[in-house]
Amino acid sequence: MGGVTCEETARRVAEELLAPQAARLEAEGAVPRSHLDALARAGLGRADGADALAVLEELAAGDLATAFVWVQRIGVVRWLEQAGPAWAGALEDLRAGRLHAGIALQAALRPGPAAVVARREGDDGAFVLDGTVPWVTGWGLLDAVLLTARDGEDVFFLLLDARPDQEGPTLRGEPLDLVGVPASRTVELHLSGHRVPADRLVATGRHAALLAGDAAGLRPNGSLALGLVLRCVRALEGSPAADALAAQLEAARDRLDAAGPAELPVARAAAVELAWRAAGTLATATGSGAVIAGGLAERTVREALFLLVFGSRPAIKEALVASLAR
Ligand SMILES: Cc1cc2nc3c(=O)[nH]c(=O)nc-3n(C[C@H](O)[C@H](O)[C@H](O)COP(=O)(O)OP(=O)(O)OC[C@H]3O[C@@H](n4cnc5c(N)ncnc54)[C@H](O)[C@@H]3O)c2cc1C
Repeated sequence: MGGVTCEETARRVAEELLAPQAARLEAEGAVPRSHLDALARAGLGRADGADALAVLEELAAGDLATAFVWVQRIGVVRWLEQAGPAWAGALEDLRAGRLHAGIALQAALRPGPAAVVARREGDDGAFVLDGTVPWVTGWGLLDAVLLTARDGEDVFFLLLDARPDQEGPTLRGEPLDLVGVPASRTVELHLSGHRVPADRLVATGRHAALLAGDAAGLRPNGSLALGLVLRCVRALEGSPAADALAAQLEAARDRLDAAGPAELPVARAAAVELAWRAAGTLATATGSGAVIAGGLAERTVREALFLLVFGSRPAIKEALVASLAR
């Protein structure tokens, strides 16, 4: 990208493409595939580590629905990287933007009965899946979903072909009527005897071990909250409120970056609470017009509501409820 950083590129794409179209896409109900292709063409699929987080923050500042679909790839990349040479081609396709993929982790991370049960069948060892995944984002838009399914304590990570032509009696996405990020194409996914070839198995794990290691992966979603704050800072530019929020944004980002697994839930809660207050600040500063549908403040408040509950964990929820109720 020459002398231009991926963060600067993300800001340009967010300001020129994502933000101007966000309200219309909400009304239409779907992030288009062309948005993901544009992000990939800009090289943003190759950003990793701290760069990927900075990209995410800029995208969220422009349009949270698109950023939310985009963030799904971070988990997929992580699992494919660990999966070895057999998945190197898929990994490169993902980075180059030839493949767009999401992730559905409920069967791996929810305590109690599995959301999706897997059994192996036939000589080829194919997986047969039954169950319901309560939230799957990007449905109908993405090529593949890294879906977790369980057989007792064993968890299977399967790269499920999710192209629209795969839908049928065994695989059905039921759209959810969301008030926040309605364009994210989030569905409840129903699987009924759905066969997945054995060669789609990316990884296996044990349920208790995955739950125990979960907190280490909580950092990326925090950038969605930071991005919403960044949007408010820019919208309020020149006001004392913008300066105050900008200082808190730096502190929330530093805290997330410094946090280990033990501190991440509380750092996530703090970032979400800041996004919630920033959205309220923007609405208040906007005035009565903020309650008219289709405006920036109104959308930002609905997106902040989504952030209060999305990607939560018991420790995040506890910290957030305690802090909000103070
Ligand atoms: C719009 C939207 C889109 C989403 N899209 C996706 C997606 O594409 N992929 C995806 O994987 N998820 C997705 N989610 C799910 C999101 O990650 C969940 O919100 C999150 O898992 C918390 O779920 P919950 O608060 O609904 O609690 P639930 O998942 O309903 O959990 C029920 C209870 O189980 C316990 N519990 C849950 N998780 C844990 C844990 N890790 N450790 C210990 N106890 C636990 C808690 O006590 C919790 O109250 C989406 C959510 C929303 C709102």
